[in-house]
Amino acid sequence: MAASLRLRGAASGLRFWSRRQRPAVANLAVVCSRSMASKTPVGFIGLGNMGNPMAKNLMKHGYPLIIYDVFPDACKEFQDAGEQVVSCPADVAEKADRIITMLPTSINAIEAYSGANGILKKVKKGSLLIDSSTIDPAVSKELAKEVEKMGAVFMDAPVSGGVGAARSSNLTFMVGGVEDEFAAAQELLGCMGSNVVYCGAVGTGQAAKICNNMLLAISMIGTAEAMNLGIRLGLDPKLLAKILNMSSGRCWSSDTYNPVPGVMDGVPSANNYQGGFGATLMAKDLGLAQDSATNTKSPILLGSLAHQIYRMMCAKGYSKKDFSSVFQFLREEETF
Ligand code: NAD
Repeated sequence: MAASLRLRGAASGLRFWSRRQRPAVANLAVVCSRSMASKTPVGFIGLGNMGNPMAKNLMKHGYPLIIYDVFPDACKEFQDAGEQVVSCPADVAEKADRIITMLPTSINAIEAYSGANGILKKVKKGSLLIDSSTIDPAVSKELAKEVEKMGAVFMDAPVSGGVGAARSSNLTFMVGGVEDEFAAAQELLGCMGSNVVYCGAVGTGQAAKICNNMLLAISMIGTAEAMNLGIRLGLDPKLLAKILNMSSGRCWSSDTYNPVPGVMDGVPSANNYQGGFGATLMAKDLGLAQDSATNTKSPILLGSLAHQIYRMMCAKGYSKKDFSSVFQFLREEETF
């Protein structure tokens, strides 16, 4: 269906169809009713650090939710707030024709979509399935093919911004999929983010996300190294951060998410590196960057090194800490 949408759009010379202009094909009738019924229930699967505040922002905009998480405690708050909790992803698909998934890894996403009780078991024709997890672009493409076979639409829409941005609905969404469906996705994603960017075909949202996180890992390690060196040279860390942030070394890791305890309030380094974006997730994203670089024969010398550093951190007890704990890791490594 998606391919036919694209071809028809191109043939008509229109970049976007208005809902009225869409051809009256059986599946499309469902797509129209789905997208126009804006306050019909939205499915949400994966209520962790990110999914929890994202789902709450949909609630604030008046969307009733159909909730599922493999960890039942994650659903409790939503149940208490009157939202409907179901017992598997297939049941979400039975009750909602727009579903957002926010899961840790490719394996979890495959399970939620294609598993024994996965979304695809009961997905309705014309449903819009948006995956905001950060996963392998190749997996997104495979899921999109399977979803398309069921007459539904899949888009990848990974996010940048972290838990704080998820709470304040300031996430950036990088969206890949059929362009004609972008407006329907934007209606929901705009409730959770301040930037919703169309990147191209399915998988391109993930590609953008992987590049961003590789750069973030490199800049966080660089900031931690520079701050540590400055402290060893006798500089006050707050003063050093201030100078970096008015100089050419400034970056998000130094001015918004500084890894040194005591430099900033309200960031994981001020809270023993609890919450935020786990080192395990960063190691996972760097693994995705590594795979993509191998597949495309792209040199990522610093990206590969960053991958090894985060893998080593996970093996040495940092897996549950925020990724900015690389500063603490470097200090503990100083044995000579
Ligand atoms: P998380 O581990 O806190 O939450 C994931 C949730 O998914 C958990 O509640 C878990 O129980 C649930 N889950 C796992 N497998 C499931 C399944 N098969 N079916 C239903 N529920 C399942 O992870 P998070 O920090 O919310 O991150 C989610 C995704 O967003 C990851 O891909 C991550 O890389 C990405 N991301 C995270 C951040 C961040 O700052 N935490 C920022 C940007 C992107």
